[in-house]
Amino acid sequence: ICWSEKGGWHRPRVQPYGPISLDPAAAVLHYGQEIFEGIKAYRHTDGSVHTFRPDRNAARLQNSARRLALPELPTEYFIQALHELIAVDGAWVPSGEDQSLYLRPFMFAKEAFLGVRPAKKVGFYLIASPAGAYFSGGVKPVRIWLSENYARAGKGGTGAAKTGGNYASSLLPQAEANDKGCDQVVFLDQHRHVEELGGMNIVFVFKDGHLATPASESILEGITRDSLLQLAEDRGLTVERRDVSLDEWREGVASGDIVEVFACGTAAVVTPIGALVAEGFEDVQPLGELALSLREELTDIQYGRREDRHGWLHRLDA
Ligand code: PMP
Repeated sequence: ICWSEKGGWHRPRVQPYGPISLDPAAAVLHYGQEIFEGIKAYRHTDGSVHTFRPDRNAARLQNSARRLALPELPTEYFIQALHELIAVDGAWVPSGEDQSLYLRPFMFAKEAFLGVRPAKKVGFYLIASPAGAYFSGGVKPVRIWLSENYARAGKGGTGAAKTGGNYASSLLPQAEANDKGCDQVVFLDQHRHVEELGGMNIVFVFKDGHLATPASESILEGITRDSLLQLAEDRGLTVERRDVSLDEWREGVASGDIVEVFACGTAAVVTPIGALVAEGFEDVQPLGELALSLREELTDIQYGRREDRHGWLHRLDA
């Protein structure tokens, strides 16, 4: 679907997958004016196809659009695009353990001009690709590298938006993490509070039964995190959205006050963190049961194996 300053949103259509032609002066290629989302479609054992909280992805895309000076796509157009893609390509939704169809909505500035201002011509697209299980052979704890030299986002920046620039700036720290034998990188803010991983949020579990997760304005508000924390609250656990400093993390693990740390996002759902590594230290992280048990509960809901008591599922093939 296209957008122009004069015509608003127009020309929704489904077309065969293939290259997009762009003017070499298209604004997105020079100034990075683009945003995206990540969402999955799941096949239930009765064959039906469902997605998870698509209204939240639509709302987050609207937030991202505001920050990147792009037009807001109405929620009904976003959801209609998911339905139309499944109507044509529903057969690509795999069945089986932890299998899904990954859906990638994205929007970018198509107008050709070499000047820094919001584009007056924009496109919104939706593509999809079958996704296998994130972990082969079961969920494994990850080693994470503490990025001391690079920040992902700053106060007032684009950290809370899902825009390519944030990911571009995390490529080098991610490569550094891989060089140090780690799977992922964790970022801090300027006050040495924990923010998030390159593509996942982070949650700390305390011995007294409460959970804490960063409340920063420069991280992406994960839909997986929100859902897991709701399930934790349903179990009677207390959830705090607050600053967690690197010192609190390290001291909490050393004293036994922190009993588990996990990362979460659409792709992996939940991954326990097994080690925190930086130049000069390697802290082994305690592994508990809660992360895996919340993961099981959430995936059971997504795959229709457990009652969807919060009404999170949205059927796409009917
Ligand atoms: N933080 C970042 C930077 C991400 O890219 C993602 C993945 N979208 C998340 C957190 C987790 O968000 P969600 O649970 O909505 O996938």
